[in-house]
Parts: sequence; structure tokens; C-alpha cells
Amino acid sequence: MFDTLSDKLDSVFKKLRGHGKLTEQHIKETMREIRLVLLEADVNFKVVKSFVSRVGERAAGQEVLKSLTPAQQVIKVVREELAELMGEGEDNSLDLAARPPVPLMLCGLQGAGKTTTCGKLALKMRRDKRNPLLVPADVYRPAAIEQLKTLGRQLNIEVFDSHAGQDPVDICTRAREYAELNGFDTLILDTAGRLHIDEELMGELKRIVANVAPQEILFVADAMTGQDAVTVAKSFDEQLPLTGVVLTKLDGDARGGAALSIRAVTGKPIKLVGMGEKLDALEQFHPDRMAQRILG
Ligand code: GDP
Repeated sequence: MFDTLSDKLDSVFKKLRGHGKLTEQHIKETMREIRLVLLEADVNFKVVKSFVSRVGERAAGQEVLKSLTPAQQVIKVVREELAELMGEGEDNSLDLAARPPVPLMLCGLQGAGKTTTCGKLALKMRRDKRNPLLVPADVYRPAAIEQLKTLGRQLNIEVFDSHAGQDPVDICTRAREYAELNGFDTLILDTAGRLHIDEELMGELKRIVANVAPQEILFVADAMTGQDAVTVAKSFDEQLPLTGVVLTKLDGDARGGAALSIRAVTGKPIKLVGMGEKLDALEQFHPDRMAQRILG
């Protein structure tokens, strides 16, 4: 993950370490190089601009220049600012504090990893001693409903009975009633995705939100699609009250652009990350650990 970004930052800092004392010129040059590395990693250009200006300001401060290990101090500043960029210090845990059944809704484009993430989330809920009900509300692709039913069978977690052609809002409402009557405390709603955003899809998602009032509305983003994922996240966020992001396929993301930009662009925290196709490959996101990992 992010190997290229890590390697490139490493070579920037190697050069810096070669100097005993740092001058403002060194800092300037380093900031220019960090800027290029981040742009090459497909980080949003506005995010890069403000990041580099924040790091540059701190790095040019006396605290760094007068330090006995200035290069080390610059790296520390970069690490702290990277963590900050990804939401360090914010509460990014799932909010389940509501009267059960607590509805959690996943949305995003087709192929982003919604259905897989629903399965992963259901497993996580059960491991956390909750009793989840999976709800297939993608009625346009019968394969999507089947996929969720298969996951449910694999996990031995119940999947609400729904069929292609039914009204997704009706499915979610009935699933909620069913959960209430049958002792499920968490609903995991797998909504429809399209290849592109369209008004009809947004209208449907808004109706689900209005009728079921999900406690979490999570945008599922494919990290491998870089800035495209960020642009789509922003559009979803403008139309739906998103509460967070699940970044999938981080295991295959060589560049890191989506991971580094999505929080800054949408203002919504990355809550969970998908680290593989297996159902236990869902992790809570830790900005500080991620920053640490990037800097090796
Ligand atoms: P949906 O159309 O949004 O429901 O997407 P799916 O859940 O069907 O996932 C699309 C593809 O991405 C499938 O082949 C999944 O196995 C794969 N996938 C989902 N999450 C991850 C992940 O975190 N890592 C990897 N490597 N593959 C993933």
C-alpha cells in the first residue's frame, strides 16, 4: 500500500538528512518536492496546496531550524500534518447509539465494494456482540441480491427476503419492522449503485434516508480510483447527509490519493477501510497509524 508515495517521500527526506543545519532554502526546496510527490500520488491539488503551506510554515519555524535534528523535526511535522489531514483527533467510530434496530446505510457507485462491505460489516457487528440483519435494497441487479444472500449464508447471518422489482424504500421499511419484531438490533442496508451518479438513484437514496432515518450513512469509495472516488464522494455528500466514508481496496491502492484527500474534500471522516476481499478484511481507520505507515 502506498509504496511509491512512501519511497518518494523517503528520498526527499534522505536528501534533507544530509545537511547538518537546515536553511530556509532547504525547507523551500523540500516543500517543492513534497508538493510534487503528493500530486504524483493523485492527491487533490487544493489539498496539496494547503498541506504544503501548513507544513512549510511549521518547518520554517525556529523550533525546527534551531533543532539539533532538523530533518527529523521536518519529518515529524509532515507525519503530524498527514495524520491531521486524514482526520486525526476526530471521533471516527461508528455511531450505534440509538434505539434498536439501528439502521446503517451503505451507498456508492457500482463496483465500489458496497455488497462486500455489508457482509464485512455484518461480521464485525456480530463479533461486537450485536445481532445484524442484512437488507438487500439493490433491486435493479438481481445478482446483487443473490450476492448478499450468498454472503449471509457464508456468515450464517440472516438476509431480509427481498426480490428484484420491489420498491427499495418499501423493502427497507419492512426490514425495519421485521428487525423490531425479531430481535435484530442492527440493520445493514445495501443500496443500489450505478456506474455514474444519476438523479433517479439520488432520489431513491434520499427517500430511503427520509423513511428509515439511518444512524450512519456511509459512502463506500474504491481507493483504487483515486480522485474519481473523491469527486463522486463530494457529489454524494452534497445530496445526502453522509456520516462517513468506507475506503475499500486499500490493499491494492499503490498511490494513496483518495485516502489522503477524501476527508479534506468532503469533511467526512474515513470510518472503516477494506483491506482485502475476505470478509474479515475490514478495519477501523487510524489516521496516525496510516501517516506513520506512509513515512515508513
Ligand atoms: P458493489 O457493486 O459496490 O456492491 O461492489 P462489490 O461488493 O460487488 O465489490 C466489487 C469487487 O471488489 C468484488 O470483486 C470484491 O471482492 C472487491 N472488493 C471489495 N472490497 C475490497 C477490498 O477491500 N479489497 C479488495 N482487494 N477487493 C475488494
